[in-house]
Amino acid sequence: MIIDTHCHLNDKRFEKDLEEVIQRAHRAGVTGMIIPGADPDELPRAIDIAERHEKIYFAVGVHPYDREKFDPKLLEAHIGHPKCIAVGECGLDYFRLPETEAEKAAEKAAQKEIFRAQIALARRYKKPIIVHIREASHDSLGILKEEGAKEVGGILHCYNASPILLELAEHGFYYGIGGVVTFKNAKKLVEILPQIPKERLLIETDAPYLTPHPHRGERNEPFYTTLVAQKMAEILQIPEPQLEEMVMQNTRRLFKGYF
Ligand SMILES: [Zn+2]
Repeated sequence: MIIDTHCHLNDKRFEKDLEEVIQRAHRAGVTGMIIPGADPDELPRAIDIAERHEKIYFAVGVHPYDREKFDPKLLEAHIGHPKCIAVGECGLDYFRLPETEAEKAAEKAAQKEIFRAQIALARRYKKPIIVHIREASHDSLGILKEEGAKEVGGILHCYNASPILLELAEHGFYYGIGGVVTFKNAKKLVEILPQIPKERLLIETDAPYLTPHPHRGERNEPFYTTLVAQKMAEILQIPEPQLEEMVMQNTRRLFKGYF
């Protein structure tokens, strides 16, 4: 059994065949899923999907790319929903920064502000946080520590293989491993995987993005967590059923009572 801890089932690319996607996952033992927040305009659809499926949950949060749509009142309006499991995805993304130094600084400052606000929200409502970090490991680590994220813990979604983030295992954080681990150029992640404490590993797809090998270029979906589990078992030299059981226990430890 596998839980896909990060899949954007509310994405437009699932509109036509969502029920088939969910059934295909269920048949392969992917029994539960979490839909992270990203673009607030897509939150109603995430809530609707979670309400219609027993083991599908959602999170409230705003992705750094959608930061201009950040509205704390909207997130607070839904955080008490019985299927709201976490806050996020939120974090820092320095991959596409503007041209000038002044613009760069302003963008970073704006991202940091809503990241801090979302950590505060998670602490206020005692929910774990789902963190997105891209080319911003140092700043993200600083903010997570300063804002006391340890109190709620959470997931480093699509863990970027940055060694400095390994210390967050001692701050209540789990490491979301997805399709990237199957990529031919995933050397860094493959090398660092055995260094992550085993009781801190989680599995995710980030569907519809980051489709595992040999399906790169196609739409990703929760069913493909099976390929991630296979690859992790191979790297860690653990029989696959045992790996899945271990990750399941990790998922249940973080999200008590949900799966
Ligand atoms: Zn995502």
